[in-house]
Amino acid sequence: MIHTPDEQNSYTKQKTSKSARQFMKHPGLLPSTVGLKNERSTAGFRMIPSGTLYVVATPIGNLRDISLRALDILAAVDVIAAEDTRTTAHLLTHHSLAKKMMASHRHNECATAKKVVNLLAQGKSVALVTDAGTPGISDPGSILVTLVRDQGYKVVPIPGANAAVCALSAAGIVTPNFLFYGFLPVSVGPRRRELEKLKSLPHTLVFYEAPHRILECMADLAEVLGIRRQLTIARELTKLFETIHTCALGDALGWLQADVNRQKGEFVLLLSGAESGNEGEINDKAQRTLKLLLKDLPLKQAVGLAAEISGESRNKLYALALALKGEASRNK
Ligand code: SAM
Repeated sequence: MIHTPDEQNSYTKQKTSKSARQFMKHPGLLPSTVGLKNERSTAGFRMIPSGTLYVVATPIGNLRDISLRALDILAAVDVIAAEDTRTTAHLLTHHSLAKKMMASHRHNECATAKKVVNLLAQGKSVALVTDAGTPGISDPGSILVTLVRDQGYKVVPIPGANAAVCALSAAGIVTPNFLFYGFLPVSVGPRRRELEKLKSLPHTLVFYEAPHRILECMADLAEVLGIRRQLTIARELTKLFETIHTCALGDALGWLQADVNRQKGEFVLLLSGAESGNEGEINDKAQRTLKLLLKDLPLKQAVGLAAEISGESRNKLYALALALKGEASRNK
């Protein structure tokens, strides 16, 4: 069965006939389908409730980063509403699936939403997917989901890959809170104004950025937020050239420009939040101590000792140390 125990239980209570419940207890029996659809997929016999929209997360690169349940659902639904049917066809073929699809992208989402509601009214089940990751997250989907829910149909999320969470999981950021922003405005003025609003927030800031804007975006980030913040650039996650690089924000532009390949692909940017008190300011004694220690000790040890001696925040000192190290290597 494709349902988790919880889902299966609530579903069983709400919708299934006696014979369908029998089937759930004894999956060898064929149900007489009342409100249920069944199909065979590569993974075996499947049953899913009809009149349901499934919001299915797909991989962000590596085609195997998709859950078994997502594959089951894609195999079992009547129609897949896909952001780009060619991209989804590629995914389906990779997993030996074939399915009727309809295009559902930013420019036709309203019209598609009505078509999907009609399908649900006919007792069909539909899966919504985007090109990569979780639908509705910097991706189309929210209009469709809203309309379907408003019309009283069930929307079931099928969780999976998401670039922001993937980046956060491997960045080793110790602060517990983050703010997912997604894409900043594309033009300089609105982007800088938006960054000004975010500047004082203490949370790790999570941005998506496209390769053709990465340099200008980085310049604005450093200009508005200051060069000392810690930045993790997570590029091409789950793909061949996956890169996860942490540095001071002031060094990021130089790092990107040092190798044109580093500017290619898809980016998640994770920026440390504003320090409480005076943003980015480190007292003189702490700065002097850190500079002295950095002459003889590895970076982490120097930061740790400087923090202990001065009482200054370890994060601030770490960002400063990265900036000083970058400055030193540029001056060589
Ligand atoms: N819905 C997706 C999700 O759940 O993450 C996001 C889709 S959004 C249109 C595409 C952006 O996500 C890219 O421009 C990039 O910023 C980020 N992204 C997607 N895949 C990525 C990857 N493999 N590595 C790094 N960033 C990625």
